[in-house]
Amino acid sequence: MPPVAAGGPRILLRRLREVMAGQGSAQGRLDKLVTVIAANMVAEVCSIYLRRAGKVLELFATEGLNPEAVHRTRMTEGEGLVGLVIETGEAVNLSNAPDHPRFSYRPETGEDPYHSFLGVPIVRGGQVFGVLTVQNRAARQYAEEEVEAMQTVAMVLAELVAQGTLFDVAELDEPELSADKPLQFKGEGLSDGVAVGTVVLHEPRVKVEKMIADDAEEELARLEDAIGALREAVDEMLSSSDLDLKGEGREIIEAYRAFAHDQGWRQRMRDAVRAGLTAEAAVERVQDDMRLRLSRASDPILRERAHDFDDLARRLLRHLAGSGHNAMQELPPATVLVARAMGPAELLDYGRDRLLALVLEEAASTSHVAIVAKAMGVPLVGSTNGVADAARPGDTIAVDGETGEVHLRPPPEIVFLFENKQALHIDRAAHFASVRDLPAVTKDGVRIKLLMNAGLMLDMPNLAASGADGIGLFRTELQFMVGETMPRMQDQMSFYRDVLDAAGDKPVVFRTLDLGGDKVLPYARWEREENPELGWRAIRIALDRPALLRIQVRAMLQAAAGRILRILLPMVSEVAEFNAARVLIDKEIERGRLLSQPLPKQVLVGAMLEVPALAFTLRQIMRSADFVSIGSNDLLSLVFAVDRTNPRVARRYDTLNPATLALIRLIVGSAREAGGTLSLCGEMAGHPLDAMALIGLGLRTLSMSPGQIGQVKMMIRSMNLAVVEKFVDKLCGRTDHSLRPQLAAFAAGQGIVIK
Ligand code: PEP
Ligand code: MG
Repeated sequence: MPPVAAGGPRILLRRLREVMAGQGSAQGRLDKLVTVIAANMVAEVCSIYLRRAGKVLELFATEGLNPEAVHRTRMTEGEGLVGLVIETGEAVNLSNAPDHPRFSYRPETGEDPYHSFLGVPIVRGGQVFGVLTVQNRAARQYAEEEVEAMQTVAMVLAELVAQGTLFDVAELDEPELSADKPLQFKGEGLSDGVAVGTVVLHEPRVKVEKMIADDAEEELARLEDAIGALREAVDEMLSSSDLDLKGEGREIIEAYRAFAHDQGWRQRMRDAVRAGLTAEAAVERVQDDMRLRLSRASDPILRERAHDFDDLARRLLRHLAGSGHNAMQELPPATVLVARAMGPAELLDYGRDRLLALVLEEAASTSHVAIVAKAMGVPLVGSTNGVADAARPGDTIAVDGETGEVHLRPPPEIVFLFENKQALHIDRAAHFASVRDLPAVTKDGVRIKLLMNAGLMLDMPNLAASGADGIGLFRTELQFMVGETMPRMQDQMSFYRDVLDAAGDKPVVFRTLDLGGDKVLPYARWEREENPELGWRAIRIALDRPALLRIQVRAMLQAAAGRILRILLPMVSEVAEFNAARVLIDKEIERGRLLSQPLPKQVLVGAMLEVPALAFTLRQIMRSADFVSIGSNDLLSLVFAVDRTNPRVARRYDTLNPATLALIRLIVGSAREAGGTLSLCGEMAGHPLDAMALIGLGLRTLSMSPGQIGQVKMMIRSMNLAVVEKFVDKLCGRTDHSLRPQLAAFAAGQGIVIK
């Protein structure tokens, strides 16, 4: 019979707590820890290896091996059995370690006499950063409970090392474990502005304060209550939605529900509590394990499942903390939100009052959270790998939304620099404001219409503040995305009326619901699609669910009674599609007439040119549509076959690529031949150099974030259109990756203001 852990995991955890609470040096306590673990596990050897920078593992403490080897035995991560634990992220349990091909003999440790070996990873936040081992002379396989107990201890260790409870992490002097070091990130500036503030983590890991339970029965009861509440909440969430769900989408949602009801998951957490952890620590322990295993799976579906479990574990922790739903937290003043990713609705939920800036790991310039951030005037930096793991709540953070620079825990000099930048930024904004009331006219007298993009009531004051000529794109889906439920017709109507009232005599173009792709309603069931960007989106949904479009149009017609109503249909691929939607709109007008409702004095219906196919039938659609607006965000993403939400490829092609210019020239040419009205409302309209090229290609109406209007107007007022046209024309036949350098040099030579 192999010896079994002497005191059981609960006694072991209690002993660990005593050691942690004790006095003495960090090394002294670490040494005591390994002694306690060895005694409890009836092991002759217990060692702790921690990761050093440069992928080196170092022996930090040992009971049983030669004490001289501590801090001397170092190996690379791929080396030996300890390396194997790091590599696989799983326990390695061997009755005769020297027989294993990965066994690597280190004479200085004196480990020759030991045969059995058990190594478990020390994991935190899904990352392995050390290994805890026990060894025995006798060749024996460690029992399942012993492996479990070791994993539990390793988790407690991980937390202690990282929190600096056990010893000062700074002593390690390594970036991976030292949580206090200043760090710098170079991301992508997505929304302009400079800020210095305090980190708040969005969807933070609920902090587990207490790891070791005082009363296991009580913890079990807490866990059971929380699981019960979670299951109920998930069931309710999944059944209370009104879009139907079929096929694969249904399966995925059902799988999510099944996870919440999974007995294995529950059992593993119960076991962890029985082993002596608090309910919270048990959730984390099981989740760490699961995340690691799933994230290493080669099957992408399994890896995706890791997110489902993460989500469930977070919800469960919130239930344990006593708040079942994800209520947006009260923000401290001068907040900088940090997250891996965030949806536009979530950002809006935070409001702008205390929010200084946003830093995201996954966001590209055309992702909707970036668009909302711009609309809110919140600086945003995206593509900052690793920032969400490194940042801790309360850290100071400096953000430059233009250059993409982010400094976490910056030294005082950097803070000073950023505060200066902030002041400069305010000056520059004042400078742009000085052109607000001047017309956007080129030096040779051509008037360009500058409109702004909007989506919420909070955008409306920007209309006057920016000096825009009107709203060229009102993204109505944002109102649907911020609410808890689908807005009723009456709510939509009064919202549109408020928007029109706020716009006064300036025109507003309302785009009908542009859902799908990366824009999903939080309360609606959605069929999961392999390629949502190419999926059931925008006008496609409107035509398949005509009631949705008709109700929205009804609300718009009533809101615009007595005024001109401008409706824009998103993602139109073919003329027939546009015509079918127009029939629905006409039916609503007819209905209003029959009911003798006051109607708009004119209804103009436009099409967005976002799907390349439409560019080839532009002359035809211009016969049916009153106007066409180029949605360059989607159009270019489809032309270049690039997912605009995927930061790996979103920036791969420049908007000022020769193909873009050639395509815009073609579109402008067709629109002119058809005598139609054309504008562009994608993000490129707001970048002065891009806007210069667009105007050079013949566009005369651009719609952009209100914050960009000042810069674009300054550019226009300093350009001579005839000269720009000639230059841009010459560029169209080039083969460069980007024409940006040529355009920038030209602008500089001509004294065109590009800021
Ligand atoms: C576009 O695609 O360019 C556009 C303006 O629409 P959205 O960004 O809302 O998809
Ligand atoms: Mg679009």
